[in-house]
Amino acid sequence: MDLFEQFESMRHWSDEEKIVIDQVTKLADQEFKPRADKYAENAEFPWENLNAIKELGLNGICIPEKFGGSQISYRLFTEIAYIISQACAATGIIYGTNSAVGHPILQFGNEQQKERFLPRLASGSLGALAITESEGGSDISRMKTTFKPDGDDIIINGEKIFITTGDVADFVLLFGKWTEHDGKGSPLTAIVLEKGTPGFEVPRLEKKMGMSASSTATLSFIDCRVSKDNVINGVCGGLPILLYTLNKSRPSVAANALGIAKAAFDDGLEYASERKIGKKVVMDFQYNQYLMADYANDIISTKALLDYVARLIDVGAADVGAASSMIKVKATDLCMKLTTDVVQLFGGGGYTTEYRAERLMREAKITQIWEGTNQVNRGVIANSLIQN
Ligand SMILES: Cc1cc2nc3c(=O)[nH]c(=O)nc-3n(C[C@H](O)[C@H](O)[C@H](O)COP(=O)(O)OP(=O)(O)OC[C@H]3O[C@@H](n4cnc5c(N)ncnc54)[C@H](O)[C@@H]3O)c2cc1C
Repeated sequence: MDLFEQFESMRHWSDEEKIVIDQVTKLADQEFKPRADKYAENAEFPWENLNAIKELGLNGICIPEKFGGSQISYRLFTEIAYIISQACAATGIIYGTNSAVGHPILQFGNEQQKERFLPRLASGSLGALAITESEGGSDISRMKTTFKPDGDDIIINGEKIFITTGDVADFVLLFGKWTEHDGKGSPLTAIVLEKGTPGFEVPRLEKKMGMSASSTATLSFIDCRVSKDNVINGVCGGLPILLYTLNKSRPSVAANALGIAKAAFDDGLEYASERKIGKKVVMDFQYNQYLMADYANDIISTKALLDYVARLIDVGAADVGAASSMIKVKATDLCMKLTTDVVQLFGGGGYTTEYRAERLMREAKITQIWEGTNQVNRGVIANSLIQN
């Protein structure tokens, strides 16, 4: 039993959870991994993978049975996101984004909203999360999108940028400011907006350094009319939704980053153990042995931290903000550093597209930026230290 197998053997999954993990691992290894290069190279949305995820029933795992799902623990959800991301990081992030829309609707939606949207997510509809604007990425107080009441409706005006799956999502959890805010508390409001609503357009898709199979869209709203029934948690009730959503999506971004890191580690170790330089192989050099020893240590300890944060979420801990930021920073910084070193381990070949090491390194970079940059997340951790 190697170090990783020993660690995995102590993670205490139930028999049912082990079956799910085995099924996802098989799917990821046999289907997602072989398709990942093609999707990335062609910037092609991974529909085949998403259909396979749907067929396996993985869309419903954050959704209770009464709304068409088969809810499992958050910890198992992060493990699934990790396994998928190891094979195809873009598919992993699309999968994670979808549940980042499901969680807040489940937590804050009224019964009618849950009945409207959750069964659709469970059966494979895609949801996008729209927070970022050109002036308000890290600083949400600068958000300019407006929600103006008009009888039983709301008129939306504004623009969101960098929205994962925004072009293909069936609906969007959209954050904006309530124009009739009385000045007390936050004007932030969250609305579910359906694809095809008049005035809702997708004027731009980004070309990116990596994660090209996952689309990234600008969304524009010009006098876009929705019913007030689509407001989640009441007008000006958006801030707790935003914080809750980020607290749950940051560990899933960490799982995505850890998946990329483990894929790079495995590739690097295999290559360095086989690649001959004279009478030696790359792994015979002590520097490389220490390097990989440190990374084995880092991967296992970061996975243990992810388990801990996921358990905090599963037991409903009162405040998981700092812990979620902690695992986001830890896993994504590790991912960037490790993937860069693995490219180095491959020598010149690492810089070519012959190996996926270069793709993994490009994919790693975004994990430090989205879901709050790592600087912003460090700020959250530091604030919790100062306040306590
Ligand atoms: C591929 C991709 C997919 C994305 N998907 C989504 C999505 O689905 N939904 C969504 O809403 N957004 C999404 N985003 C947006 C992403 O979350 C933001 O880009 C990110 O939060 C940073 O915001 P910004 O780009 O406005 O950078 P800025 O806020 O302009 O930051 C610029 C720099 O300033 C630093 N900085 C800013 N404020 C602080 C501070 N307070 N303390 C210390 N440093 C600071 C940052 O760390 C960064 O280095 C996506 C982005 C990309 C690139």
